[in-house]
Amino acid sequence: MFPSQQTWSATRSNLLQRCPRAFVMRYGLGAISQHHPIGQDLLHAFEIQTPWILLHQTIRNVVLDYVEDYTNGTIWSIGLLRARFVNDFTQLLEKRNQIIERIQTKGRINISNVQTLRSENHLIEMGVKASTDLVQHPDFVSLLRDGSISRIEPTHSIKKGGMRIYNAPDFIHRNKNSETLVKLNPFGDFSATQRQHQAALLRLHGGHGSTIVQFSLQQRRWDVRKTIPTEAEINDAITLVRLDIEHMEGLFSLVGRNNNLDNVPLSDTYRSCMNCQVRSMCPSKDGLERAKAEQFALMCV
Ligand code: SF4
Repeated sequence: MFPSQQTWSATRSNLLQRCPRAFVMRYGLGAISQHHPIGQDLLHAFEIQTPWILLHQTIRNVVLDYVEDYTNGTIWSIGLLRARFVNDFTQLLEKRNQIIERIQTKGRINISNVQTLRSENHLIEMGVKASTDLVQHPDFVSLLRDGSISRIEPTHSIKKGGMRIYNAPDFIHRNKNSETLVKLNPFGDFSATQRQHQAALLRLHGGHGSTIVQFSLQQRRWDVRKTIPTEAEINDAITLVRLDIEHMEGLFSLVGRNNNLDNVPLSDTYRSCMNCQVRSMCPSKDGLERAKAEQFALMCV
C-alpha cells in the first residue's frame, strides 16, 4: 500500500532496529500523509529529540562551523566556541519545546509522555568539553593545517544499484597527494561493526585511494579510526543496505486496510519505548509485554 521507497540512511536503519512499529509510523504513515494536518503532526512528533541527542547534534554542528570558519581564515577562541555551543544548544532545546507546545495546543495527536525542558549546565559543560577536545585533537588539527576542505551537506546522497543511500561524510579534506573523507560520530554506542559498515559506505563518496577518518566519541574520549575500505567490504556494506531495505519494505506490506498496524511488530525492549515520541499513540503505552501478548493473540485468531 505504500509506494516503494528504496531509500537507506543510518537514521532509518537505527529506527528500524529500535522499533519496527515506530519505523512504519515515521516513514510509512507519516510519509504518505505528510500533506494532511495529522500526518504533519506525526512527522513533527518524530522531530522531538531527547536533550542528550540534541547535545550531540550541537557538538557536530559547532565543530563543523568551526572547521568552515577556520578554512576561511577565522580561528575561533575557546571562549567563542563555548558561546556558540551555549547558543546553539539552547536554540535546539527551544525549538524542541515549541514543537511540543504546538502539537499539544492543536491536540490532534497525543504526545502527553513528552515534556518541555530547559538546558542544564552539566550538559553544556559536557558538550563544550567534547567540542574543544575534538578541535584540539592532534589528528583533527593536522587535517586543518594544510590542503582544502569541502563541507558536505547531510542531505547529500548516492544512488547505487537502484537504491538511494544517505551516508555522506561531514567534510572532505584534499591536498595534492591525498583525499580524506571525515565523519564525526558524537553519539556513543557505536560498535566496531557499525564503524566498518559506515566507512565502507563513506568510500562511495570518494576516489579509489581515499582514506576514511572517523572521529567517534566513546566514553567522553574521541577515538580516531583511519581506514581504506576494500572493494569486498564495500560490496558487503551494499548487500547489508539492500537487506535493510527489503526488511523495511516487508514491514510496509504488513500494514492493513485503513492503515491498520495490528500486524506490525512492536519493539523488542521497553528501553526503546521510554523515549519514544509516539508512545501515547501505541498499544505499549499500558505496558509493552501486555501489548505484545495482545498482538500475539490477535495474530493467532
Ligand atoms: S512505544 Fe515502543 S513499541 Fe510503541 S512505537 Fe514506540 S518504541 Fe515502538
